Amino acid sequence: MDHTKINLIVRLQHIDNLIESIMSLQKGLPEEIAALEEDLAFTARQIEARKKISEEHLKLRERLNSTINDCKEKIRTFKEKQTLARNNKEYDALSKQIEYEEKEIAQAEIRLQDIAQAEHHAQELQKKGRDLIAENRYDEISEEMMPDDVLQQQLHDLTEQVRLKKEELDSIVIETAEEVTQLRETLESQRSVVAKEAKRLLDKYDHLKSGSLQNAVVKLDRHACSGCNTRVPTNRHTLIVQGGFYVCESCGRIVVHERLFDEAAAEKH
Ligand SMILES: [Zn+2]
Repeated sequence: MDHTKINLIVRLQHIDNLIESIMSLQKGLPEEIAALEEDLAFTARQIEARKKISEEHLKLRERLNSTINDCKEKIRTFKEKQTLARNNKEYDALSKQIEYEEKEIAQAEIRLQDIAQAEHHAQELQKKGRDLIAENRYDEISEEMMPDDVLQQQLHDLTEQVRLKKEELDSIVIETAEEVTQLRETLESQRSVVAKEAKRLLDKYDHLKSGSLQNAVVKLDRHACSGCNTRVPTNRHTLIVQGGFYVCESCGRIVVHERLFDEAAAEKH
């Protein structure tokens, strides 16, 4: 049995592991940032929608109030004219105009009440939300129940979290870029060596890694395959100790003595 072949593939796995351990520093961060950004956008949309409604209410209220004032002004004028009316017909005509303006006022007031009621309802919902928050019953809170200040705080917190996570990711990427590039180069040259010297092992290695396995070559750990924890038959231990390899019956990984990994790590790259 040619043990140098297995040494070559262990070294390949070792370099792969080094790259993986560096990449794992940032593992999850890009996904975490994406999720936070989604939450942030959702919160911002909620705040924006509320702002729009309150602006619309404000505009409408101003318009209705000015309508009411106009009507009142007209009524005042009509009433003055009534005192000067020369006959009943003129007086009645003015009365009708006054009546019309009064109806306009009544309608405007109803609409103002509707706005006040809608705003009151929104505030009541928020009050309920605040109570639920106090009781930690977050899953019962609907979108409308989220108090304005809590939404603002959420927006602020999420913005800050996204900023920090991005900073963290950037610094990891910058710090490790050179090392990763170097390791990838080493990995490539190691691959070409293995391809020349131990093509079948490399094929097996690639086949194992093409699945969901990150590690195709693993250490023997307490008489078991450290990839899946299945016990390795005793009669194969000697071979492994001698520097050979065993293909795990359960997961198919290549199991070797941990000494081989130490040797691969000791080699300069
Ligand atoms: Zn296994």
